[in-house]
Amino acid sequence: MFESLSERLGGVFERLTRQGALSEADVETALREVRVALLEADVSLPVARDFVKAVKQKAMGQAVTKSVTPGQQVVKIVHDELVRVLAGEGPADALKIDNPPATVLMVGLQGSGKTTTTAKLAKRLKEKNGKKVLLASLDTQRPAAMEQLAILGTQIGVDSLPIVKGESAVQIAKRAKQQAAFGGYDVLFLDTAGRLHIDEVLMDEVQAVRDIAEPRETLLVVDGLTGQDAVNVATEFNAKVGISGVVLTRMDGDGRGGAALSMRAVTGKPIRFVGLGEKMDAIDAFEPERVAGRILGMGDIVALVEKARETFEAEQAERMAKRFAKGLFNMNDLKSQLDQMLKMGGMQGVMGMLPGMGKMARAAEEAGFDDRMLRRQIALINSMTKKERANPDLLQASRKKRIAAGAGLEVSELNRLLKQHKQMADMMKKMGKGGMMKQVAKAMM
Ligand code: GDP
Repeated sequence: MFESLSERLGGVFERLTRQGALSEADVETALREVRVALLEADVSLPVARDFVKAVKQKAMGQAVTKSVTPGQQVVKIVHDELVRVLAGEGPADALKIDNPPATVLMVGLQGSGKTTTTAKLAKRLKEKNGKKVLLASLDTQRPAAMEQLAILGTQIGVDSLPIVKGESAVQIAKRAKQQAAFGGYDVLFLDTAGRLHIDEVLMDEVQAVRDIAEPRETLLVVDGLTGQDAVNVATEFNAKVGISGVVLTRMDGDGRGGAALSMRAVTGKPIRFVGLGEKMDAIDAFEPERVAGRILGMGDIVALVEKARETFEAEQAERMAKRFAKGLFNMNDLKSQLDQMLKMGGMQGVMGMLPGMGKMARAAEEAGFDDRMLRRQIALINSMTKKERANPDLLQASRKKRIAAGAGLEVSELNRLLKQHKQMADMMKKMGKGGMMKQVAKAMM
């Protein structure tokens, strides 16, 4: 089936994880994959394009933040942006049904699940909110559809307007409103006629009904599997009738839910509910996080990030843990540690992960022990020869001068690094035999 975004990004993130910060080229590469994944999830092209543009701006803006890894940064930005775009204001299932009787107009194409959704919502309002609900079908072209709503009404214990042959949709809407008012109903659902395609006659009829019904909510029901077409339908209905929200049906199927993003972006109207099956209870309030995860094709962002990190770090951790356990600690080890620290978000990042260390991280930073210092120390180690790294005792005055000059720094800074290394190496030796460093090394990875 679909290759998930996490699979697509696997290679990209592995590469990103090896570097310190997000470069423009990295972001571009990752976002190309994001765009393909969106298109595969049925997000329309212009919407995918705009979305990726917005994500890029955000990603570039926080290119050097101290979050865990660049890969995680990209995934998180994409996920958060999806949720942001998908989410409406306030709870999705809070229908405006104060001032009874409140009319809810149901619109959409034939076969989208309009009648089923009408009954599902009626049942929900009755059972969850204790509302007295009246159903009315306006599908004068299809007597079977009118029957269907009446049957569903009986099934869920909700009244439906008696069917009178020969009435127009507008006449039925009028009668339904009167009945709702006289009968003391809280909510009136008007299930309008659907066509197979958008056509003018249909739109005119829905407009006329809307003018009579004065709905508090106009919900567009769209088949979540239709993908691209959904955008045209939503645009058209919103322009001609004006909708207050969307219900996406068949989200229990294989669709990737990209239609949700497209419709939200194109109409600006929120997704309110999702249909999850044929049964009368199979409806849920729309949750942006769930659909964002589905569009991205990954259940758990954190798990993905962990995986990306593991690939690179597992072997290294293993190797270092072994050395530490033996009490070994040369310049290469120190460099690995410093690299690791930078990658995990510098001093602040590493210490921030350990409980109670936040304060210490701030103190360390105030004392000048920050990421710049980590980078300078790495530069110093980089300008040592292989031999010197393996055995820092070799470093006499002339070598020190060469190394410092190579890194563009003072010898005094190199001396500080050597002192720090010696302290750490001594500590390793002491602790190595107790097996404690192994634990520490593992905790650091
Ligand atoms: P309408 O023509 O728009 O009124 O569509 P219907 O309400 O008659 O639904 C058409 C078919 O889709 C029926 O067989 C429904 O049971 C089915 N259906 C509606 N909503 C869902 C849903 O969320 N999931 C699934 N799997 N089927 C649905």
